[in-house]
Amino acid sequence: MDLGIDDEVIAFREEVRSFLRENLTPEIQEAGRRTTSVFAPPGQAMEWQRILHRKGWAAPHWPEEYGGTGWSVTKRAIFAEELVRAEAPPLIPMGLMMCGPCLIGYGTPEQKAQYLPRILSGEDFWCQGYSEPGAGSDLASLKTFAESDGDDYIVNGTKIWTTYAHHANRMFALVRTRRDGKPQQGISFLLIDMDSPGITVEPIVGLDEVPEQCQVFFDNVRVPKANRVGEENDGWSVAKYLLMFERGGSEYAPALRVQLERLKKLAAERERNAQDQQARAFFRQKIADCEIEVLALEFTENRIKSELESGGNPGALTSMTKILGTELQQRIAQLTVEGLGIESLVWQPQAIVPASEEQPLAPEHSLVAMASYLNSRACSIYGGSNEIQRGIIARAVLGL
Ligand SMILES: Cc1cc2nc3c(=O)[nH]c(=O)nc-3n(C[C@H](O)[C@H](O)[C@H](O)COP(=O)(O)OP(=O)(O)OC[C@H]3O[C@@H](n4cnc5c(N)ncnc54)[C@H](O)[C@@H]3O)c2cc1C
Repeated sequence: MDLGIDDEVIAFREEVRSFLRENLTPEIQEAGRRTTSVFAPPGQAMEWQRILHRKGWAAPHWPEEYGGTGWSVTKRAIFAEELVRAEAPPLIPMGLMMCGPCLIGYGTPEQKAQYLPRILSGEDFWCQGYSEPGAGSDLASLKTFAESDGDDYIVNGTKIWTTYAHHANRMFALVRTRRDGKPQQGISFLLIDMDSPGITVEPIVGLDEVPEQCQVFFDNVRVPKANRVGEENDGWSVAKYLLMFERGGSEYAPALRVQLERLKKLAAERERNAQDQQARAFFRQKIADCEIEVLALEFTENRIKSELESGGNPGALTSMTKILGTELQQRIAQLTVEGLGIESLVWQPQAIVPASEEQPLAPEHSLVAMASYLNSRACSIYGGSNEIQRGIIARAVLGL
């Protein structure tokens, strides 16, 4: 793992900062500052992606031949950190972090040529159709069925918790193509055009009053077999490969470091007025505990990135970082609410929606804090719940 900090790296950080100063518009930055979940407002996030794409920086983690940057692990970490520090919105992960790497690994030359450039440029907006009512953690029990009909499949069933399905024009989905045998061996991986006749999307309103997730219904939806990724009935292998990137490709540490810096600033401001010495020491202790764990996470994430870059499989390490990253996210969100005290109780989620005309009743950081705290509850559920990740570690690492 190359962690060398040399002149080239210092110059790179300056190059990123100067690009951000020149290209991150106030509107996009505001959307970044007001993002309270892992998914930024789609309009501004996609606009930001197009700006990054023009510079060739939309997918640093992709191989260079498909539009990646070829940066070292250190440069990628610096880039990720500077984006968060500059309050850029996170990019929507379904295309860049999930479907793209999966097509690079499993797609046919035609699928790569058709979809990868459009994922990078943001022309296509992808959603992930895995979960169903009755098939979440136990994903292999999914029931949405794709019946073979000549050169097409005819898909019937439903998907749920599909993030941003109401904004997407494409879905990558797991569907059942065989009912007999082991459940994992009868699943195929399909790329579905969301404009196909027979698809209905119903948004679900979340705790923060913003519809992010949806339920999607398929009623005799025709999908060409050419849109299948991998072999028929072998979609489980494709899905597992994709999950490795969904978990391992995620970088929690850079954002957590910046959030901790902000929390420390907040704590320092509060300390000036605080009377209770013991409470101050206790709060500091909690921040210090988080900081130690963020540092440990950062090193583990760099190990994973090195492993992925050299073609290796980081295996259960990605389960470890998923648990640690999401639990730290929840702890920092909770400490921020604790630090703000009564100020965080103003509940006005509509006031922080981009271009909202609602008059805010509290400073922006207070309105963001509570919505972030509530949304952070979800991060130990999506991408495979943390209990499931602990199960994987128990089996794959501890041999239990
Ligand atoms: C914000 C958000 C966004 C999402 N976006 C998407 C998306 O875009 N596409 C998509 O397909 N899905 C999405 N999901 C769905 C997500 O993948 C599922 O919620 C997750 O896999 C858990 O499934 P479930 O909700 O059915 O819970 P269940 O599987 O019913 O689990 C309920 C509880 O039981 C525990 N549990 C279950 N099985 C075990 C076990 N074997 N051992 C120990 N504990 C267990 C779980 O950890 C959990 O606490 C999203 C979810 C959220 C919250």
